[in-house]
Amino acid sequence: MEIAIIPGPIMDRLTSDGGKRVHLNVLLSSLLALAYAWLTGSFAGGAGGVPHICLFRGMLGVPCPGCGVTASLRSALKLDFRAAVRYNPAGLAVLALLLAQVPLRVAALGDGDFGPPAAALSRKMSRQVTRCLLLVWAARLCGGGAGRRSGASLPL
Ligand SMILES: [Zn+2]
Repeated sequence: MEIAIIPGPIMDRLTSDGGKRVHLNVLLSSLLALAYAWLTGSFAGGAGGVPHICLFRGMLGVPCPGCGVTASLRSALKLDFRAAVRYNPAGLAVLALLLAQVPLRVAALGDGDFGPPAAALSRKMSRQVTRCLLLVWAARLCGGGAGRRSGASLPL
């Protein structure tokens, strides 16, 4: 669940320190994900304003574990937690992970000794978020549980 989407050539320009590279990439990627969710929720017609594309659902006819997470993030960032849970309850765990990356990675960048513990803590949090996503997905596939939505109307 950790995201590190900044391309290598850009990271090369930002730092030559191999120990800081992954922390900076995760920090910037998390901030980009939060900014994307906030901006599309605020300026693109709200949580349902961005077209939903899910290859998994298109091929198999059932939502993927991540269906509704972006809309959940958008709603949560607008402090509409009821809608966030309705879109995908695990979206709140994803939001917590993205927010936690900011102080964690800033601390790791500031103190190299904190790098390995920060990475280990992030991996543990990521595993828990993945478990949340899979539990919500299993509940949806079984036809119950919080955040259940019909597959056809579930935004990304
Ligand atoms: Zn999906």
